[in-house]
Amino acid sequence: MSAPVPLATGDARELLRATVAQFGSRAALVSALGPQTLCILELLRQEGLSLPTYFLDTGCHFAETLAFRHEVERHFGVEVQVVRPAIDPGTLHATDPERCCAIRKVQPLQQLLGGFEAWVSGIRAEQTADRAEAAAVEWDLRFGLWKVNPLLGWSRATVDEFLSRHGVPTNPLLASGYRSIGCAPCTRPSTDERGGRWAGLAKTECGLHRRSSA
Ligand code: SF4
Repeated sequence: MSAPVPLATGDARELLRATVAQFGSRAALVSALGPQTLCILELLRQEGLSLPTYFLDTGCHFAETLAFRHEVERHFGVEVQVVRPAIDPGTLHATDPERCCAIRKVQPLQQLLGGFEAWVSGIRAEQTADRAEAAAVEWDLRFGLWKVNPLLGWSRATVDEFLSRHGVPTNPLLASGYRSIGCAPCTRPSTDERGGRWAGLAKTECGLHRRSSA
């Protein structure tokens, strides 16, 4: 096991530089191409760095999100590789969303990350109580590798301002009242950042960022 990248100041650029220096192509950037990932891709571009980049295609994404992947590839000149679930659980989201997320998201990510030593995520501390307990660099108990969270201290306003300042395109659904965009059956427009995800349920995470091995 490699030692983790230095915590340093928690500065996003510094963390990304250290991650690429230490892990190189053994670190993966994984996302659904939300605003945070776009910030990371823009920071990598500005620093002249790159990481293998993956999009978890659950089979339930909005058409706008699927089309946006190509725009991201064009804008940043990167390949966004697609990871898909091994099976199609159909409408399981309606009766057992935890199991649906396990099949469509967690299991494919687990399989992917088995080939890496670190992964980079765009979670921010202010998004959920669980994410508020995350560290900029931490051992991911669930998936068994290092996890780097360079934007942990960023606010949503900081994210939006950064993307606007650097002319980074965003998922068009953000202009239609969505604040956080996941699978279509489980995402609603919302004024609250995570309030549109699994609206009406106690569920707040799909499991990718849950900070336990359970
Ligand atoms: S967000 Fe909804 S549709 Fe997507 S994997 Fe989870 S339960 Fe299934």
